[in-house]
Amino acid sequence: MPSLSFKKGEIILQEAPYAAAVNDVSLQTICAYCFEEATVEPCSKCKTVGYCSRECKRKDHDDHAMECYAMTHESARNLDTECRLVIRAIAKHHRELAKNSVSVGNWFGIKRSIIHLLSHLDHLVQNPRKYAETAAKARRILAVIQDKVPCTYEEVLAMIMRMRINTFGASTSTGLPSVVAVHLAASKFDHSCEPQIPVTHLFNKRKICFRAVEDFTCEREDLKISYLPPLMSYPARQERLLSHYYFECGCQKCWDDYNAGAKEDCPPEIIEELETLLACGDQDQIYEEGTKILERMTGLPEDNYWVYQLRCALQAAAFVRGEFYESLQHGYHAFIVTPAASYQATILYSMYLALHELGWNQKSHEHHDYFVECVKKGERLFDVCFGKRHTIASELRRAVRSMRLGA
Ligand SMILES: [Zn+2]
Ligand SMILES: [Zn+2]
Ligand SMILES: [Zn+2]
Repeated sequence: MPSLSFKKGEIILQEAPYAAAVNDVSLQTICAYCFEEATVEPCSKCKTVGYCSRECKRKDHDDHAMECYAMTHESARNLDTECRLVIRAIAKHHRELAKNSVSVGNWFGIKRSIIHLLSHLDHLVQNPRKYAETAAKARRILAVIQDKVPCTYEEVLAMIMRMRINTFGASTSTGLPSVVAVHLAASKFDHSCEPQIPVTHLFNKRKICFRAVEDFTCEREDLKISYLPPLMSYPARQERLLSHYYFECGCQKCWDDYNAGAKEDCPPEIIEELETLLACGDQDQIYEEGTKILERMTGLPEDNYWVYQLRCALQAAAFVRGEFYESLQHGYHAFIVTPAASYQATILYSMYLALHELGWNQKSHEHHDYFVECVKKGERLFDVCFGKRHTIASELRRAVRSMRLGA
């Protein structure tokens, strides 16, 4: 395998998902095929997922069919986002087996089908509580689809684990989870807490797209991504990687942190409360309780991972509630501490939306300069991280153009 060379901003891998599911919290605002935020028309049968156009509905027809059937089942209320994703993946796998034409992803010369994705079943059985929960979920899914798909309990269990370990998630412009998707090639990227080769990844419409942030030449094995959000402490990273991905990270950053005796600064009871809150998905609750938790965190620095996570969540929650100034403030604090360009870019885009709502885009507004600066910075960041043709990049460019025209 020859070395790989890429220029700054160049696409290194682009791939449509093998299977993807719209998150439960975004079913009313995200198209189930193109993943764009839109006014969606719900599927007339299951009334679960929706589409922005007839074309998207038609293109998703085969992938949605089993999910649709499942969501009209009497026990459909027990099926969450993950269940819908697993149902889509299993149904597709069996459809392809029946047609004898199996999808293959290509990760820089390594070919992979869905069964090549790691499932870590051997590790799952070592955790009795998690195993019991996952087994119950597999049985629920099987009960719903077994009349239609010739699959076994073991197969469903393995597919749940494959989805858990290998998915990429996307967010709406206001920071809510929008889709989870699994990709045959992209799931091959290994993890590093601080990748040597800076690569961004992001969903552009339906595809996930990896780009070089700088010029580089390397071996394919050196191409790594961080599975975790930036700023996470060493103990939190180790815990998350072990409990979610089943490995202990030995990257340079982890060694350095280990040798420096890095500890968790945030009190465990706050972490626990925060994790429960952020998982609830209820933006009003996140806004109200999150604001109180943030007050209790006043002793912690802004670049503490938990403060940063809460700021990001509050940026989204405040926006949804129409508290645009507060959204802007939270976004600003998160923006200045995050070291990762792709996270900066998405935070900045949400700030841009809030500034727009506040009317700072008007030339006559006293803070108009701030708006101009934010949009221009965002435009540059998006061009490099996600490419000039990304929807958000072109929206920001339109904003810059309209300012020049004095609109
Ligand atoms: Zn669509
Ligand atoms: Zn349907
Ligand atoms: Zn590490």
